[in-house]
Amino acid sequence: MDLQNAKIVRRAAGRLMLAALAVLWMASCGEPDRPSAVADRALAHMLHLSEAIGQRVTGTPNEAKALDYVRQTFLAMGYEPAVQPFGFAEEGGGVVFSGNVIAVLPGDSPLEIIVGAHYDSVDVGRGFADNASGVGLLLALAGRLRNSRPPCTVRFIVFGAEEPGFIGSRFYVAGMSEAEIGKTVGMINLDTLACGDMIYVYGGEGEAGWMRQQALDIAAQLGIDLKTNPGWNPHYPAGTAGDWSDHAPFRQAGIDYLYCEATNWEIGDLDGSLQTEKFGEIIHTPRDNFSFLARNFPGRVRGQLGDFARVLETFLLSVTAEDAAARIDARAKDEGDARPAVYLRRDGSVRRLPPETPGSPLRLRDER
Ligand SMILES: [Zn+2]
Repeated sequence: MDLQNAKIVRRAAGRLMLAALAVLWMASCGEPDRPSAVADRALAHMLHLSEAIGQRVTGTPNEAKALDYVRQTFLAMGYEPAVQPFGFAEEGGGVVFSGNVIAVLPGDSPLEIIVGAHYDSVDVGRGFADNASGVGLLLALAGRLRNSRPPCTVRFIVFGAEEPGFIGSRFYVAGMSEAEIGKTVGMINLDTLACGDMIYVYGGEGEAGWMRQQALDIAAQLGIDLKTNPGWNPHYPAGTAGDWSDHAPFRQAGIDYLYCEATNWEIGDLDGSLQTEKFGEIIHTPRDNFSFLARNFPGRVRGQLGDFARVLETFLLSVTAEDAAARIDARAKDEGDARPAVYLRRDGSVRRLPPETPGSPLRLRDER
């Protein structure tokens, strides 16, 4: 893009930000503590990441700007964020640099729940749903809970380099000691929280799915229509998801997960890879931007963020230290999950790979 165009775009982004901030300000007057205020703050972070910064491809200056924005936001909220830098070899010999940002909210117990979301994007669209939505809600929740003391410690981790193959989350898990794994009761992955036709939570099979069940119970009590994978696709048992996001390295390390997503498991190949009935796939397409979604689904993004905010806040405040210790004990007795790490990437796109057929020819989401 040339300089003149860049200026026009930047001015337009500036105007959009002002308009959005004005709307947010009006929306939050008078009732600063109602749950939708969390959604409004998440939306403001999303606009900054996807419009003021834009695409955030791993290793680019924009990804670094997003990392800095996350770090500064934690600092402004009174957290002491740590940056965990990492580099990895690129095909063709270069080295790509990125980093994770970590901020801890102390609880009564040293047992921890991790809340994670990736801030990088692909080079198509603006990465508004995927995954400014996850980062936006993570930051808004961190702000909301700043002055509370949950029963379990909450470790917020904002990952770099998810799109090239969960490099940030894999780097983080690879660096966890046995003791750190042993005190982590679960990992909540926030990836594409808004834009899909319905909101979902997934978790492990059997007892390992306790976080999913607890989230569904909370939603039912709050009157929120939260769903899970109905299990219509034999590759993905009801309630579970494949290893296609940042929960995967944690699951492979034996840590239970709760994965939150907005999509639609009732269309296409029944694998949750098409977000909407109306337009098919949104993420990784030019449609993944604020104005397209605001125009075509008025109110949807804010509503979904608000629903996830209420469920997740209640979840984080309701897992007691006794529950957490019992879950960690139960997990240690388990034989472990023998499913291999399976994901494939080509041309930067996400591949959903049936867990039982690693390496075999695949029906890939973007070949439909
Ligand atoms: Zn994502």
